[in-house]
Amino acid sequence: FPITIRSLSEAIGRPAKTLMTMMFQRGEPLTINASLDEETAIELSMECGVDLEVRHERDIELELVEKLTGGDGDVEGETIRPTIVTILGHVDHGKTTLLDALRSANVADGEAGGITQHIAAYQVEHEGQKITFVDTPGHAAFGEMRARGANVTDIVVLVVAADDGVMPQTKEAISHAKAAGVPIIVAMNKIDLQGVDEQRVLQELSTNNVLPAEWGGDYEVIRTSATTRQGLDELLHTIVLTAELHEYKGNPNVPAHGVCLEAFRDEGRGVLAWLIVQQGTLRIGDDVLCGPAYGRIRAMYDDHGNELEEAPPSTPIKVSGLDVVPGAGDHFFAMADIDEAREAAESRRQRGRAESLAGRGLPRTLEDILNQAKEGDVQDLPLIIKADTPGSGEALRSEIEKLDHPEVRVEIVHEGVGGVNESDVTLASATGAIIVAFHVVAEDRAAALADKEGVEIRRYSIIYEVSDDIKAALEGLLRPEL
Ligand code: GDP
Repeated sequence: FPITIRSLSEAIGRPAKTLMTMMFQRGEPLTINASLDEETAIELSMECGVDLEVRHERDIELELVEKLTGGDGDVEGETIRPTIVTILGHVDHGKTTLLDALRSANVADGEAGGITQHIAAYQVEHEGQKITFVDTPGHAAFGEMRARGANVTDIVVLVVAADDGVMPQTKEAISHAKAAGVPIIVAMNKIDLQGVDEQRVLQELSTNNVLPAEWGGDYEVIRTSATTRQGLDELLHTIVLTAELHEYKGNPNVPAHGVCLEAFRDEGRGVLAWLIVQQGTLRIGDDVLCGPAYGRIRAMYDDHGNELEEAPPSTPIKVSGLDVVPGAGDHFFAMADIDEAREAAESRRQRGRAESLAGRGLPRTLEDILNQAKEGDVQDLPLIIKADTPGSGEALRSEIEKLDHPEVRVEIVHEGVGGVNESDVTLASATGAIIVAFHVVAEDRAAALADKEGVEIRRYSIIYEVSDDIKAALEGLLRPEL
């Protein structure tokens, strides 16, 4: 401190223009390069829902995660861990049925709760390999977890109903999986139905950048039926092969950390949280910090409801002992002792929870990206395009693709038809993309989420305005926001 409006905007991931407007409303019109004192900077950030100090703490946390995961170097004690799989796809294409079918083979008759008991993740064994399936309700949740820096998934199984083919949410799921950089295995589901046209589905996959292996591409397409169980063994086999190829590793000997998948308050047992251990081994009696919550692990259960003493990497567990309910995507860490866990949790709570999730330092506005380009460290301008019709989306894309700039490469992370939805926003948040809304508006919940996450949605109605804006931005001459 002092800090310029520009730097503050970068630090909290909110448009500089917003900050300038706020100062204007306070009767203090300032330019982007004007300096703010510490108090004003903190006040403005607070108004934007970002706590500068929490932001700092969060960076430390992410650094810690990186350190604990050991980057890409070999850490002593690393071993192969079970693969973590998430199933994504369009609504009604069979995700839930498939998850249940894969699990039912591993659920013993008479097991407490049986197949009906709700679980956030489970493990199955196939060909001697354990596979962990995460039951996230859709790709928006997948994106939101990633936006919070929680990358738990190693492999995505993309479910596409053979009778329906590639649908809008299938495309969204593809974009999310690709942005996450994880391998995709396609399950062409409902193959038991009469008269399905497999070739058509393969064709649609191809045109959406998922070229099937049988057509010379990188993506295995397994024919499955979640209802007759046809192809499930082959699907599991393909997952095992993919896992062997990538050798996903974990180190059971470091302090445990991982991610909360979901949590709730149980009448009798207090807070119950579904956690997935990413590194280390979590044990009964460990003192943990998890988002705003802390506590000593009192009890630990696997997905069959069996009590566990300890959980190595990739194990999904349900634990009790936390004092408040953490959020999905919150990281958890085993701490040195309960005092350390309490202190960290209490200082987080004092500042409020919402803030602790805001701002991850990704450039989120056109201006931010350009500012970075000027400093010589920008590579990509990620965009998400939503348009009113496939035709206008197509026209917009080809116009944007014509733009060329030595320092900034425009990258279309996702393209879709219809209003801006929550999936678009979480994808933007996870990838640092800007959303271009062409002749469409944002759904209410998406707009609120964009606000919270600091995602910029720019609305346009004329193609040339989009390309002019980007061009102008590329040349550092940003027009006022529409
Ligand atoms: P989700 O929305 O993707 O989770 O889809 P669901 O698992 O709820 O499935 C939607 C509907 O499709 C349900 O009525 C299922 O019974 C049905 N379904 C799912 N998989 C199959 C399948 O392989 N074959 C047939 N014939 N129906 C299926």
